[in-house]
Amino acid sequence: MLTETAEIAQIKTSLLTDSYGRVHDYLRISLTDRCNLRCTYCMPSEDMQFALHSTLMTADEIYSIAKTFVKLGVKKIRLTGGEPLVRKDARKIIELLSELPVELTLTTNATKTNDFIEDFNKAGIKSVNVSLDTFDKEKFFAITRRNDFDTVLENIHQLIANNFHVKLNLVAMEGVNDGELIDFVKFTKNHPVHVRFIEFMPFPGNDWKREKVFTYIEMLERIRENFEVEKLYDEKNSTAKKYKVSGHAGTFAFINTVTLPFCGDCNRLRLTADGKIKNCLFSKGEIDLLTPYRNGGEIEELIFKSLKDKKEQTGGQDFSVPTKNRSMIAIGG
Ligand code: SAM
Ligand code: SF4
Repeated sequence: MLTETAEIAQIKTSLLTDSYGRVHDYLRISLTDRCNLRCTYCMPSEDMQFALHSTLMTADEIYSIAKTFVKLGVKKIRLTGGEPLVRKDARKIIELLSELPVELTLTTNATKTNDFIEDFNKAGIKSVNVSLDTFDKEKFFAITRRNDFDTVLENIHQLIANNFHVKLNLVAMEGVNDGELIDFVKFTKNHPVHVRFIEFMPFPGNDWKREKVFTYIEMLERIRENFEVEKLYDEKNSTAKKYKVSGHAGTFAFINTVTLPFCGDCNRLRLTADGKIKNCLFSKGEIDLLTPYRNGGEIEELIFKSLKDKKEQTGGQDFSVPTKNRSMIAIGG
């Protein structure tokens, strides 16, 4: 028998159910499409047009729109971008969102986390996802086109020392960082970090080719040649397939979007920095919530419409032809 509160919570949750029965309780909010790095797989090498500031949600608009999602059943919010911490009012946004009854977390390149430790603690942020594609300083420069390797590594150690649950995201690319797989698994020996090998995904302008994808099967095979690995339990809605080397402090996982999409129990919705809802990372369409919100209109019906339009898998896109989408940096990963 459910308690009254649990029943109410269930009814609210079910409001964000799509036509395939998937309940959506996780919202990723992009704070900006700007970044202080220039990762080749994320930001188009040419013609990157950044959004005008006036078109971006303000801190108060982010709070208010997020509150509507929470009313409809969202229980977890991840801040992302672009780089969320380059936004001048990132501190204020974190503080405002921490008032909502959600698990608050973020994905960052860790170039600036050293300035935010206290803010994260105050906001109750316990888990931080950090992008790190290589342990090689020169390769870091080649990938990110910026020289911040030392800062990023130092800040990762600082997050660990401050007891954050740190997930390290690595975009695995053939001919770029495939040779470093084993080093990343070795890093989990004495560091309680959770490495996630992400298959390189196609977005406009990122020069994606099937041959560049270092697949989950290839990665697992390579790791098994070097270590005794055990499979760990994957929670419902988890995008990552988790493993561990016995005796290691940390774990590793694969995010197999390209070779084995995990859309069956997807619970995620996305809000771009300019206030458009995307029902999937790969959705071709998006619905503007910010303009109606600014005009004093109702946004709940628009959220439901977006859910109703959600496709069964990878936004209805087929990776064998060029995808129609924003660039990753303009969506919010
Ligand atoms: N700036 C933050 C960061 O780098 O963590 C947050 C935004 S970034 C777009 C979010 C995540 O998307 C990062 O972990 C990044 O590695 C991942 N990502 C970007 N482009 C990708 C691609 N083409 N394939 C797979 N993952 C990608
Ligand atoms: Fe910036 Fe993150 Fe994209 Fe790299 S992956 S360019 S750090 S937004």
